[in-house]
Amino acid sequence: MARLIDSGPGCPTPTPLRAATAAEARGLAYDDEVKAKTDHLYPLVSDFITPMEWPAVAPLVAAINDLKAEKNAVILAHNYMTPDIFRLVGDFRGDSLQLAREAAEVDADIIVQAGVHFMAETSKILAPSKTVLISSLEAGCSLASSITGEDVRLIKEHYPDYPVVTYVNTTADVKAECHITCTSSNAAQVVEAIAKEWNTDTVVLVPDQYLAKNVAAQTDIRIITWPGACEVHALFSADDVDALREAHPGVVILAHPECPPDVLEAADFAGSTAALANYVKDESPAKVVLLTECSMSDNVATENPGVDFVRPCNLCPHMKRITLENILDCLTNMEHEVTIDEPVRVRAKQAIDAMLALPKMENPLAFETGLKPLEIEVFSPS
Ligand code: SF4
Repeated sequence: MARLIDSGPGCPTPTPLRAATAAEARGLAYDDEVKAKTDHLYPLVSDFITPMEWPAVAPLVAAINDLKAEKNAVILAHNYMTPDIFRLVGDFRGDSLQLAREAAEVDADIIVQAGVHFMAETSKILAPSKTVLISSLEAGCSLASSITGEDVRLIKEHYPDYPVVTYVNTTADVKAECHITCTSSNAAQVVEAIAKEWNTDTVVLVPDQYLAKNVAAQTDIRIITWPGACEVHALFSADDVDALREAHPGVVILAHPECPPDVLEAADFAGSTAALANYVKDESPAKVVLLTECSMSDNVATENPGVDFVRPCNLCPHMKRITLENILDCLTNMEHEVTIDEPVRVRAKQAIDAMLALPKMENPLAFETGLKPLEIEVFSPS
């Protein structure tokens, strides 16, 4: 079951003692120059960082923003970053697809991915001439590590007549073996388009079995999947939804489609992180809960001050490997460059390009809620 916090910010952001130690160790101080560069930013994070803590955080922020200007670098900040990173040093913010598109188009020499490793790989796939850095090599993903390119080759041997769609939360090796990628914003659209192109009623969608089951409930296409799951979203349950409704009468419950299908069945609305953020902005519910990673609520709450958030605190340990300190070190030392073998990059790009060639949707697709979960085939190599 998810850990639920009734109100107030989700995660301590960042650990002030850690930031103070980090700033001191790097000879950085909250002096007049740093104050002039950063104090106007403080209101963006005042719900998460107290005035007493700010002098520990501000020198790191100033140093990162100076380095970005000096090196013509940009930071792509995923929705699951803590607000200090998301608001204070992120140049582009959004879900993995939005960030990958920015990576391809941005006029910068260096991209620092404030997200996990597969996202940095996706940036490199789309922007091969740019230097892509990630500040922690430990920022992995349970979905991306659940499947390999070799596994996809096995799947294709087993189902030679069906197209293989991969969720973007996979490595470049996996993307290179698949016919097309999808995101949680367009998964149903991609599945239906590739089925039509292949003239088939069956599509393989890897590696997230919950996303696959949730997509299967939205379409007549038969879906075969892989036994992967997001370790964060898999923790939510229909019991959480019941508990939330009982504790917070009238709360509107929004769920990410990486959650198990019975969660979507019980939720009021479901969609990608972009769809959830849009829902809150457009509908302004009095009280809302986002069943997704912890920091997302903090970041959406900042933009919707009139909405009361109940915050589930399921942290992604991989996303939380990214800190202001290691972003600063990564930019200072130009460390942890992401590279991909060119033949793999080219094939992985073909899978992404196949998705980007589909008609662009105005808004991310919502998942219909209230549907009975379907049992679908899960391919297992053993
Ligand atoms: S939240 Fe889940 S899918 Fe996203 S990076 Fe973490 S483990 Fe992977």
